[in-house]
Amino acid sequence: MATERTLSIIKPDAVAKNAIGEIIARFENAGLRVVAAKMLHLSEEKAGGFYAEHKERPFFKDLVGFMTSGPVVVQVLEGEGAIAKNRDLMGATNPKEAAAGTIRADFAETIDANAVHGSDSVESAEREINYFFSNDEICPR
Ligand code: GDP
Ligand code: MG
Repeated sequence: MATERTLSIIKPDAVAKNAIGEIIARFENAGLRVVAAKMLHLSEEKAGGFYAEHKERPFFKDLVGFMTSGPVVVQVLEGEGAIAKNRDLMGATNPKEAAAGTIRADFAETIDANAVHGSDSVESAEREINYFFSNDEICPR
């Protein structure tokens, strides 16, 4: 499998729970490396642009409201099959359906506030990484 990069966001609910370290430990313990990271408090414009694919969905306004409700930690994760590996570690979008031991099962209570974001394809990973990071903010290792 190829070495990939994926974009991860630790969402405001998980930051508020002081779970940044525990979540990043799961990535590292699964063999993913953090090659870029920053904490941000997203503006409505930045959050709305990030989730542009969901613009017409009924939950879009709530999603942007939630993502701007507190700081987030945005990271680029690198490793073998990083995109699918991160999605596996995250669990299903609805934490009530997320498999036991996944991040969303352990740290999230609702579909609105579900602890983490992860890119879902090579194309979205590339777009999302470039949305938050310039090349000189990424540290290959
Ligand atoms: P993800 O890739 O697993 O994060 O899920 P999606 O890309 O489908 O949706 C983006 C985010 O929008 C999810 O993480 C949820 O926080 C939120 N979301 C998705 N579907 C719903 C829904 O049916 N209702 C609500 N309230 N939020 C949703
Ligand atoms: Mg998604």
